[in-house]
Amino acid sequence: MANKLLMTPGPTMVPERVLKAMARQPIHHRTRDFGEIFSSMNVKLQEVFGTKNYVLTFPASGTGGMEAAVANLFRPSDKVLAVSIGVFGDRFAQIAKRFGVDVDMLSYEWGRSASPEDVVARLKERKYKGILITHNETSTGVINDIKSICKSIREVDSDILIVVDAVSSAGGVPVDVDANDIDVMITASQKALMTPPGLAFISVSERAWKSIETDPVSYYWDFNAAKKGLQKSIPDTPYTPAISLIVAQNEALSMIMEEGLENVFLRHQKIAAATQAALNSLGFELFSDKSDSSPLITAVKAPDGFDVSRFLSLVDRQGVVLTGGQQHLKGKIFRIGHMGYINKEFLLRAFEAIEMAMVEMGFNIEKGISLKTIDETLV
Ligand code: PMP
Repeated sequence: MANKLLMTPGPTMVPERVLKAMARQPIHHRTRDFGEIFSSMNVKLQEVFGTKNYVLTFPASGTGGMEAAVANLFRPSDKVLAVSIGVFGDRFAQIAKRFGVDVDMLSYEWGRSASPEDVVARLKERKYKGILITHNETSTGVINDIKSICKSIREVDSDILIVVDAVSSAGGVPVDVDANDIDVMITASQKALMTPPGLAFISVSERAWKSIETDPVSYYWDFNAAKKGLQKSIPDTPYTPAISLIVAQNEALSMIMEEGLENVFLRHQKIAAATQAALNSLGFELFSDKSDSSPLITAVKAPDGFDVSRFLSLVDRQGVVLTGGQQHLKGKIFRIGHMGYINKEFLLRAFEAIEMAMVEMGFNIEKGISLKTIDETLV
């Protein structure tokens, strides 16, 4: 089967160089060879996270990372505020509830971002041990202003644990863990970090370490055991890691460092602007306000009578994979992912497929208009 172009919320495209690195024989994980690669990956992850904190690696997707954070930080009946602007905010709250945590919700209509004032108002009402927030809500294409939210939280509570789901943002936009005083930040390999799914990365602050017990409820997600591995002269992990993925992730992070983080962030902004302009040229509207819309994924309103599933399958027939809406947004939006290994060539291919699908669906569009728009926007 021919490779398809993934313009999805993740997994995203993996560069050839990363695929090649992954295709080597596994390195044994209790050796200097592995330790060197693992250290090198960890230093680069700290740079992407903007932190001096340890960044722990677990063999898991993002959800596993979120569960690991809850298992280590909270005990049954601890009080936590979950800020939700969509599917993944809800998921974080559900995970905490499964662990018996006393979760209060601050929920928003999907398509909107969270307001720092609302968060502060809730923190003044009740004392919480932690707050769970999504940075980039992949289900709605909305990005929260994490900097302002964290700043406002700290103005009213200096010891609450700020836990951020940056699964679809880290590596594509600044997350600045230390500058924003984030206690625990979670991301995963398969989105802006340009690697196949299977690794979760979690940074843990000094404040968070103080509240992590030496004997957490979970053996597999034990943060202390993972930290001990990182403190060894030849770093390793408590159990067999996803070795080939770590080798791949190290290579992908080298590519990010070679391009330069600032340039990577700028590329994401430019690609997002070109995506929005191309959509407008075809008569589509964004699902969220422009000021809230994400540089990593664009959610598009389906016009009246627009058959999203037919559209997605016609685009897929051209070798391009886009996604629809989740839960009550099914049939109402479609989403174009543009994070990680993304460039003008990929964007042009995607819009060529989008235009072909629209023509087949009977839309009267000026052929090539979106490609011309991309060409003019991305100089
Ligand atoms: N949070 C966000 C913001 C996400 O985008 C995703 C994945 N779409 C997840 C959490 C869950 O991650 P995973 O699918 O890797 O378990």
